[in-house]
Amino acid sequence: MNNQVKDGKTREIFSESLFKGEVRFMEQMSLHTSLRIGGPADVFAVPEDILSLRNMHASLKRNQIPCLPLGGGTNILVRDGGIEGVVISFKSFKKIEILSEDDNYVNLSVEAGTPLQRLVRFSAENGFAGIEGLAGIPGSFGGAVCGNAGAFGYEIKDVLVSLAILDYESNIKNYKAEGIDFGYRKSGILPGEILISAEITLKKDRKDNVLARIEGFLSKKREKQPVWEPSAGCVFKNPPGLSAGKLIDEAGCKGMRIDGVEVSSIHANFFVNKGKATAFDFIRLMEEVAHKVREKFGILLEPEIRIVGRESVN
Ligand SMILES: Cc1cc2nc3c(=O)[nH]c(=O)nc-3n(C[C@H](O)[C@H](O)[C@H](O)COP(=O)(O)OP(=O)(O)OC[C@H]3O[C@@H](n4cnc5c(N)ncnc54)[C@H](O)[C@@H]3O)c2cc1C
Repeated sequence: MNNQVKDGKTREIFSESLFKGEVRFMEQMSLHTSLRIGGPADVFAVPEDILSLRNMHASLKRNQIPCLPLGGGTNILVRDGGIEGVVISFKSFKKIEILSEDDNYVNLSVEAGTPLQRLVRFSAENGFAGIEGLAGIPGSFGGAVCGNAGAFGYEIKDVLVSLAILDYESNIKNYKAEGIDFGYRKSGILPGEILISAEITLKKDRKDNVLARIEGFLSKKREKQPVWEPSAGCVFKNPPGLSAGKLIDEAGCKGMRIDGVEVSSIHANFFVNKGKATAFDFIRLMEEVAHKVREKFGILLEPEIRIVGRESVN
């Protein structure tokens, strides 16, 4: 891709008649991830509207250039070699719109790039209940849907009605949420598909009730998570019926460190960047921790964070 970036293909894909938005070359992904880790993306594109997104997507497919949709970058580890092809940012897609409501329920359309916490605040301010447990989860609404984010018994899938997805042929299709296979920290949205927006349904409640529940969840989070240090949230999924954090702690890994990455002493399933951490260090620490848990409990931990990118820049 590096060569393609420099040649005429890029000029065609991002020509003014086809694409409106921002385009940056060799953009350090450490600027776009909560871990502050990650080498350069060949291209970092911020389409301004749906037409530009579709045109770009179609040209990328035609030219066999890979692309990676990015939300808030809070559940992703980008390798030190960065990302081949185009990273698509959804920063410009952040509209929340009321579609319909009655005395008990409201239906909202939410664009993928909407910060999840903006949606949580909007719901609280209007007395809409159903996503209070998602308070404090960073990142975008789109990222939350793609990974079925959740906490305290709440999951985003429980409020979804339908999803608008850009498919491989660059067509936008609407799917009923019940037809999509959501599971623990995963959705049936396939790699290569792009979530544009989704409709959600929330229950009407008293504003102070919603706010009180949110406050309760936020204070639990502040107590139990190192929210002030760069991390990507939970590194490993909880094995069925167990807590990955507890297993890591009991395997003696709390505070373990490889160069710039440390297993948090507050929450053992959070690995934090202590300064100049690299993805290489992070993956070594993941392997070391997984090895210790396996040795002690015979349990194989599965990553929750998505690891993407190349080992080194070509
Ligand atoms: C301090 C902290 C606390 C956290 N607490 C929680 C928690 O309690 N519960 C929880 O579930 N998670 C938690 N997380 C993890 C993370 O915030 C969530 O998983 C979040 O929903 C990820 O959203 P994002 O926009 O940052 O996704 P990104 O990291 O940007 O992307 C994640 C994946 O989704 C894909 N993706 C993103 N947007 C789209 C799109 N529009 N279309 C197609 N694919 C897309 C990306 O390609 C990538 O594969 C926490 C993270 C941190 C740093």
